[in-house]
Amino acid sequence: MSFKEQVVIVTGASRGIGRAIAAAFAAENAHVVLTGRNEATLQEAVEGIQPLCSGEIVYRVGDVSRAGDAEAIVQSVMEKFGKVDVLVNNAGITRDNILMRMKEEEWDAVLNTNLKGAFNCLKAVTRPMMKKRSGVIINITSVVGQMGNAGQANYAASKAGMIGLTKSAAKELASRHIRVNAVAPGFIETDMTAHLPEKAREELVKSIPLGTLGQPEDVARAVLFLSSPKAQYITGQVVNVDGGMIM
Ligand code: NDP
Repeated sequence: MSFKEQVVIVTGASRGIGRAIAAAFAAENAHVVLTGRNEATLQEAVEGIQPLCSGEIVYRVGDVSRAGDAEAIVQSVMEKFGKVDVLVNNAGITRDNILMRMKEEEWDAVLNTNLKGAFNCLKAVTRPMMKKRSGVIINITSVVGQMGNAGQANYAASKAGMIGLTKSAAKELASRHIRVNAVAPGFIETDMTAHLPEKAREELVKSIPLGTLGQPEDVARAVLFLSSPKAQYITGQVVNVDGGMIM
């Protein structure tokens, strides 16, 4: 699955799943653009990934929830590389609370980052991809968007929204040979899930048929497959990477 000379943007790539996705594309010799809000962590991630590959690894700072930031990132990637082949909308946050106590800011922050952020970046790459008449967009959703989760109404709504966005964009862009798919991880070991109490973690593992939490690399492998020509006839789908949690 060589991605030599391909230009890949991964949002939220300073750590966790996004960083693993960026590293996996880098290992297949793509040019990879890592994005996030914190320059120091992005720089560290780029320095960790660059030795793995022959492509160019760069970062761009920006907040995906701001349309202007998403546009500026894509514009600067166009100026540097002249094209975008793959966009991975991975940036995401949680602000958990029970419905009764959920603050408007908690709802807005999660919807603005996860759903609107994906829309902003998708919209920004659409024009150059349409001109080129090719491209791949992968949205990182979640099993929570398919099954709901108590205490995560904002997060579940954002991730369910990303599935609707994926299918609509897939229909709209298919005639230009732009494929749009979603990957729905189950519980993956990252900073996002690190604060789970031991008891809750044990209960969770019991609900996973394969019997363990996933690793960021498990998600990255699915993203690479869907981005590759091997998946050329796949669009508008949600691929679960969840150890069989949902079936
Ligand atoms: P992490 O919290 O480890 O990493 C999130 C990344 O997103 C960081 O690089 C962060 O960088 C970036 N980010 C957050 N907000 C913004 C923003 N507004 N603009 C740009 N970048 C931003 O999360 P994970 O790696 O665990 O999760 C990655 C994705 O996978 C998320 O969409 C998450 O919802 C999804 N997912 C994760 C699961 C899990 O079990 N871990 C399960 C299912 C889905 P910075 O803060 O510096 O901006």
